[in-house]
Amino acid sequence: MPEGHSVHRIARQFALHFVGHQVAASSPQGRFAAGAQRIDGHVMTAAKAVGKQMFLEFDNHLWLRVHLGIYGAWDFAGDITADATMASSNGRMGQTNQRGTVVGAHEDSLASIGAPRRTRLRMAEQEVEGTLDTFPPPPIGAVRVRLLTDATCADLRGPTACDILLPEEVQIAIDKLGPDPILDPGKAAEDRFVATVLRKPTPICLLLMDQSVVAGIGNVYRAELLFRARLNPHTPGRELSETTVRALWKDWTKLLRIGVETGQMMTMDGLSPEAYDGAMASRADRHWVYHRAGEPCRVCGTPIVLEEIGGRKLYYCPKDQA
Ligand SMILES: [Zn+2]
Repeated sequence: MPEGHSVHRIARQFALHFVGHQVAASSPQGRFAAGAQRIDGHVMTAAKAVGKQMFLEFDNHLWLRVHLGIYGAWDFAGDITADATMASSNGRMGQTNQRGTVVGAHEDSLASIGAPRRTRLRMAEQEVEGTLDTFPPPPIGAVRVRLLTDATCADLRGPTACDILLPEEVQIAIDKLGPDPILDPGKAAEDRFVATVLRKPTPICLLLMDQSVVAGIGNVYRAELLFRARLNPHTPGRELSETTVRALWKDWTKLLRIGVETGQMMTMDGLSPEAYDGAMASRADRHWVYHRAGEPCRVCGTPIVLEEIGGRKLYYCPKDQA
């Protein structure tokens, strides 16, 4: 499932190429025909991500809300901004992206996304560039929504949620979500997260996945954040120290920014330039514990444990996170 960094990157494509433009909205599949009609022909005025949800505002004060869920994806075509991550993926859909990059580039500002060009790009959990033959491309398969400007096309497939909301309904949806460090970089957001965690009897591994506690963390970031903090995943929130919980928020902020910048859930630090490039190219090399059940811990060599909790897979080192 796309985690928060993916949704921020998608919102950024909309901000760069749709906001300020008149948009033709349709539902090639038909299932969202009535919704699309309500925004068809209007100018997009804002695009924002909150955790795993995205909100697109139009000049008639209606909003399109999208939650990709597990299977959802946006396919962009035409003038879009594909950064260096995608530039080296050999232009083939369905292939994991490769990256040859400058170490430390991920520390740059979120604005450095590269120059726009005419191409195709699928944005979901992974990002894959393709080739563009005609513009706009014919809609293929079950396209729930197509948003089209004179230069850029975005097709949405397989979302968990896709609906038109009034401004007050957007506020209600956002109020249900915990803080997102990119949307709310201030101390108030950190304080809100810390206060919530410190009063809950729930294990920290479940609190991090609870979108009302903190918005945007999924299974990969959850496992990695807990390992980086050397925290036992089963520790109740209220038994943690305030210092520990503040450090968790700061580390999430750091990892999320790297994810938005690079498009990869890079959760390891201190790598040599060679190891960094290897880790960016291969998921198996860029995590401490995620998806490494039975493999030796990169720190202590103990086999990584896989446990099912809350219906999701949890990975951790039983020694470093005892
Ligand atoms: Zn270990």
